[in-house]
Amino acid sequence: MNAVLAIGFGIASLAAVWFAWRYIRLRRRLDMYSGALRQSQSLNLPTDVRNLEDLSSAVNSLVSNFNLQLSTLNAKHKRLAAVLEQMTDGVLIADSNGQVQFANPAAEKLFESPNAVGRTVIEVVRHHQLVEVWRRCQQTNELQSEFLELPARRQFLQLIAIPDQHAGGSLLLAQDLTRVRRLETVRRDFISNISHELRTPLASLKALTETLQDGAFSDPQAGPRFLGRIATEVDALTQMAQELLDLSKIESGQVALNLASIPPKALLMSAADRMKMQAERAGLTLHVECSNDLPNVRADPARLEQVLVNLIHNAVKFTRPGGDATLLAEAASRAVRFAVKDSGIGIPSDDVPRVFERFYRVDKSRAGSGTGLGLSIARHIVEAHHGKIWVESEEGKGSIFYFTIPVA
Ligand code: ADP
Repeated sequence: MNAVLAIGFGIASLAAVWFAWRYIRLRRRLDMYSGALRQSQSLNLPTDVRNLEDLSSAVNSLVSNFNLQLSTLNAKHKRLAAVLEQMTDGVLIADSNGQVQFANPAAEKLFESPNAVGRTVIEVVRHHQLVEVWRRCQQTNELQSEFLELPARRQFLQLIAIPDQHAGGSLLLAQDLTRVRRLETVRRDFISNISHELRTPLASLKALTETLQDGAFSDPQAGPRFLGRIATEVDALTQMAQELLDLSKIESGQVALNLASIPPKALLMSAADRMKMQAERAGLTLHVECSNDLPNVRADPARLEQVLVNLIHNAVKFTRPGGDATLLAEAASRAVRFAVKDSGIGIPSDDVPRVFERFYRVDKSRAGSGTGLGLSIARHIVEAHHGKIWVESEEGKGSIFYFTIPVA
């Protein structure tokens, strides 16, 4: 019984200790909270909260302003990158050590140096004259500009080197003027050719008229002969004027093509009919070889007949009597390939690439040679039809002039 009492008493005292310990902990915590509360009241909380709110909204507006500026800057950067990407002029930016920091695609293409960034200007431009322009800009810290002809690369460039005043590097701007230069040369050649071509017939007309004035006019034999030669020279000049007019009209795109769907055979037959007499007079036989089931071509019949007539005219001029000329047409990929083949004197291989140039004649002294404009006109007409023209020829054996015209 005593034992039971002792155990009961022990349990009761343990419970009392536990409760007392819990009470002390609770009390301590309450004291802490009340202290903090008192402290917070002395801070005047509502005003500080307002200040904090102001600060936070100021920071927010700063952030949104910053974001706006960042996106404007990004948009500008993208626009600039697109311009540099699409520019036909090459742009290179190099640092003060001559290491390329930026190169647009045009620069890499122009200097034939892919992956230019990270390499030196010397490695990228690979030409001493170009490097020299950049060096001068670095040394003088002044803009340098130069026109340079690079025969090995068949390029004509303008290089502008602009110093970067802040970073000590430079910006190189390269313009490819090769095409402009070529056009200028063609124009200059054209003027010099035309004056040359006019001088010869005009000089002979002058000589003939002077001879007539000096008494040949009343000579019953010489008079009519000289007049006949004058007429021939005038005809040649008239033809040249007409051909030049045709050429300039076609080249400037003034000639509107009256395109229609035409059977190739009809084109060959009408050109052959027109040239038959001339071929017979020159002692040549003119053949036409063309199947009836070729697809129609999309062409201006009058202009294509002019091409065929020019080619047949040449075949007749440059083939000896007894030879023959053949007009052919056959199917090609989405086009019809026309050909004018002769058994004539042929064209030396060196001259083959040049016969389509204006005024080009293989042998200017060759009898029957004309103005050198016929093939040039033919080429322009064929190209206006989106076709191609070319020649295969062997000296002494003959020539074949081919051209293609897309099917209708
Ligand atoms: P041309 O009025 O002199 O015939 P073209 O432009 O028609 O002018 O021809 C240019 C030159 O090409 C001719 O002068 C001639 O030397 C050469 N040529 C053209 N066609 C032939 C051909 N069928 N056979 C040989 N040479 C040709």
